[in-house]
Amino acid sequence: MGRKPATGKVNRMDNPHNRLIIVSNRLPYRIEPDEREGFAFTRTVGGLVAGLEPLHAQPGNVWLGWADEPAGLDEAGRARFERALAERSCAPVRLDERDAELYYEGFSNSALWPLFHGFPQHTRFDEEAWEAYVRVNERFRDAVLALARPGDTIWVHDYHLMLLPSLLREALPDASIGFFLHIPFPDYETFRMLPWRRELMRGVLGADLVGFHAYDYVRHFLSSCRRIVGVENESGTLFADGRLAQVDAFPLGIDYVRYRDAARLPAVRRLVAELGEEKGHEGCKLMLSVERLDYSKGIPERLLAFDAFLDRFPEWRGRVVLVLVTVPSRENVASYAALKKQVDELVGLINGKHSTMDWTPVDYYYRSLPFERLVSLYAASDVMLVTPLRDGMNLVCKEYLACHDGGGGALVLSEMAGASYELHEALCVNPFDQEGVVDAMRRALEMPEAEQRRRNAPMQERLARYTSEKWAREFLDAAADVKRRQAGLSAHLLGPTSAGRLLEAFRGARRRALLLDYDGTLMPFSDDPARVAPDARLRALLQQLGAAARTDVAVVSGRDRATLESWLGDLPVDLVAEHGIWFRGRDERTWVLEEPLSDDWKDAVRPVVADFVDRTPGSMLEEKDFSLVWHYRMCSQELAERRVIEIKNALGDGLADRGIALMDGNKVVEVKPRGVDKGHAAHRWFRDPAYGFVLAAGDDRTDEDVFEAAPESAWTVKIGDGPTRARYALKNTGEMRALLEQLAVACAEEDAEGGDGASPGAGRRDVLRAPATVMPRTRALARA
Ligand code: UDP
Repeated sequence: MGRKPATGKVNRMDNPHNRLIIVSNRLPYRIEPDEREGFAFTRTVGGLVAGLEPLHAQPGNVWLGWADEPAGLDEAGRARFERALAERSCAPVRLDERDAELYYEGFSNSALWPLFHGFPQHTRFDEEAWEAYVRVNERFRDAVLALARPGDTIWVHDYHLMLLPSLLREALPDASIGFFLHIPFPDYETFRMLPWRRELMRGVLGADLVGFHAYDYVRHFLSSCRRIVGVENESGTLFADGRLAQVDAFPLGIDYVRYRDAARLPAVRRLVAELGEEKGHEGCKLMLSVERLDYSKGIPERLLAFDAFLDRFPEWRGRVVLVLVTVPSRENVASYAALKKQVDELVGLINGKHSTMDWTPVDYYYRSLPFERLVSLYAASDVMLVTPLRDGMNLVCKEYLACHDGGGGALVLSEMAGASYELHEALCVNPFDQEGVVDAMRRALEMPEAEQRRRNAPMQERLARYTSEKWAREFLDAAADVKRRQAGLSAHLLGPTSAGRLLEAFRGARRRALLLDYDGTLMPFSDDPARVAPDARLRALLQQLGAAARTDVAVVSGRDRATLESWLGDLPVDLVAEHGIWFRGRDERTWVLEEPLSDDWKDAVRPVVADFVDRTPGSMLEEKDFSLVWHYRMCSQELAERRVIEIKNALGDGLADRGIALMDGNKVVEVKPRGVDKGHAAHRWFRDPAYGFVLAAGDDRTDEDVFEAAPESAWTVKIGDGPTRARYALKNTGEMRALLEQLAVACAEEDAEGGDGASPGAGRRDVLRAPATVMPRTRALARA
């Protein structure tokens, strides 16, 4: 511990002032009362605990989880219990018994676990259980808040606590919060069945870094993000509520050395030897299967495959034993009890059918094995069967390989386990394909030792390198990296200090221009573009600013002339329509073309776009005077992404010859005359030296042309996230409107002061009532 990571980056955990708070459903101990009125703590096993153990051991770091308090403790007993936990750097979350049951069994294990593993038939949606899940997540939040200090990193684990990141984010907007899901994240079609899908999505998005075991789960999560909450991403980077977050895959490893070395201990070697003599195993090959008794693990399917194997290859009867270890799990959940019965019956059936006097094919244990016993079984087994129907990662297969370090042993591994992405040298099988599994059983049993070693070596090398400890460190390094990227971006945000300077510049300028995009800048987006007419307050604001002394306001929009005119035509503002094609001065009130244009090209392009509308449900064609626009806001975004590329290819060739160009906007592709854009139109103001202050605000690609054309001195403001040429950013239209309100207040104050200070000669006016047309002003440029 304490060493710098290989990347050379500063590891945040090396800083003793930054603590790590690990939050998971359970604490990493099994706690039982012992005879001397004390408590016996047994460290639980598994990759998560192994990975986090070295971090947890560092001074100051804390593990917070649901403490299953021993029954019958009085006040003093409880205080002793908490002291004992504190000595182990653990903090308990105490849950009401009924809530705990509903949250853990009712929701986590009866809704999320089965659905995320692709077992809708075992999935139960229960409103009462959901409410308990919310309450328990809130209890966890309160427990974390009681502990957290500025600078701490909070790392939340797994499906029990999917709401916790955003609950914490509300209270700690700047905290470093990570979230890791240890089970698969299902595809969108499955995830969307959840009545609370939106809440869970939003809950997770409170984190800065969201981690999964496999890249497929990352893809699924990002797809649901896009479809359910409309959050887009670029290479896993996304913006949730204006905050940058990253989604990535971090495959959990094991404590490789611990397993490798344990398998070499004399005590384990003795156990391995004894295993051979026990129960008639002598002379038989051992095939091992170890897991919690869970329907996701495919235990009945494996037993049926073994039965079929013995039928198909009778020469193996009496020469192989399947050691089946199932660890009791979630026995209070009905589907688990039914599974136990099914497995018991199948074992009975197979043993009844194939057993001989001195050979029993299935050696069945229904219990948890101590570490040494488990390791000796791994070490003694010729074949390891890991054939879950679905598994987020699966550590058993990795532990088996570590116990055979440098040696043979054949691993049969399900393609449906997250581990299969890393362990492709194993005999990979589709667990639903019984014939395939039977074949793999035979191949594994008959595989020459040299081939086993050849396959295992690269897997063992990878596992020895990418350990659970490395996994934890990589995650934390990545979380720190997100914080650095956020810091880089927030320098950009127009905070109170820069807004103050902007206001000062506005007040001090002789003449000022406000160039405002409409959609996404003055009004938020709506799925229906016709529904975003200006509200009364926006109209009053534009009226006030447009009528103010020394101030020119222009709405620079991509919308068509008629719409802009009907919404804003009576206000004292200039209008620019169709991204700079049309201009309408506030005084003249007639539309003029910025330059002569032709729309001859439309007849050739219209059928192509119309064809894309037919092939892309939810998309639509908008026709303006000199442009054709394909809107895809309402489509499946994955399909739309493909179609955007296709439409560009379809139109690409002939565009330049016709003098037209393609332009990407916010969920639109627009075909329009080349060289005419908002930046072009904005020169009207940018070139005029009379303007001592220019503010240009916009939200999408088309506004970037304005930012690019703007002089150094202009205040360019991008609304929303993402890369931009603007100097400043505001999070949303609400913030933009608030900024304009401040400018309006400044104008009103100037009027109240009885003069304009900077511009001698401009008289006192009643800003709200002054008719726009009688305002004295020098226009920027002669109107066309
Ligand atoms: N394990 C154990 N005792 C047993 C059987 C299994 O300690 O009798 C451990 C095993 O070593 C592994 C973990 O339980 O670390 C199972 O993890 P895995 O990811 O394979 O499955 P999960 O139970 O988390 O779905």
